Amino acid sequence: MNEQINQEIKENYLSVLESIGIACKKADRSPDQVTLIAVSKTKPVEMLQQIYDCGCRHFGENKVQELVDKYEKLPKDIHWHMIGHLQRNKVKYIIDKVDFIHGVDSFELAQEISRQAVKHNRTVNILIEINVADEESKFGVSFNDAETLVLQISTLENISIRGFMTVAPYVDNSEENRQHFVKLKQLSVDIKNKNIDNTCIDVLSMGMTNDYKIAISEGATFVRVGTGVFGERNYSM
Ligand SMILES: *Cc1c(COP(=O)(O)O)cnc(C)c1O
Repeated sequence: MNEQINQEIKENYLSVLESIGIACKKADRSPDQVTLIAVSKTKPVEMLQQIYDCGCRHFGENKVQELVDKYEKLPKDIHWHMIGHLQRNKVKYIIDKVDFIHGVDSFELAQEISRQAVKHNRTVNILIEINVADEESKFGVSFNDAETLVLQISTLENISIRGFMTVAPYVDNSEENRQHFVKLKQLSVDIKNKNIDNTCIDVLSMGMTNDYKIAISEGATFVRVGTGVFGERNYSM
């Protein structure tokens, strides 16, 4: 792999970390309250290894096969995050490999995660996906349906509901997404305060390359950054 590209990725990674630090400081938060998930979808393992060598231990993938392939090839102390829409019949391939499944938006999917988790004798952390702007094209449940889904899923074995995630709308001015982050934070506080069994609401997965600084100022604990670390994705490769 091209040495210059590798160097660029390392520099990008360190500069995103630095920006996270600055955003935390501005928001009067400690930088260890925010975890950078490097979204590595479509990128080769050599690139992931570059930032692993700089200390990155959280990677996000959105395709089951790709996550499994990369899991096999990279060091075992990586925390893998499944951030894409997960089909029920594929849960079994990743259940023993992921730390977090972001994007759970149905009871049926949660049931399958629970079933596989029991089989593998482990507990899996999940995040409930919220479609914050009610976009037709997006996965996730509405704010109104969130509590009901949490209550249903909380009855399942070997699942720990850790909080919420969202993919905010694509906007030209990222400030437009602040309102959604504020609402999602409020939802997480409201539901945390209900002390529902099997929930430990301490994670808020929001913010991507274009809006992670704003998300941090509104309480994100996971930011999912792809382009900002690895550069533009080329889906035709
Ligand atoms: C691709 C993706 C990201 C990263 O997007 P960037 O804009 O490249 O930072 C974050 N979250 C999810 C769910 C994604 O699919």
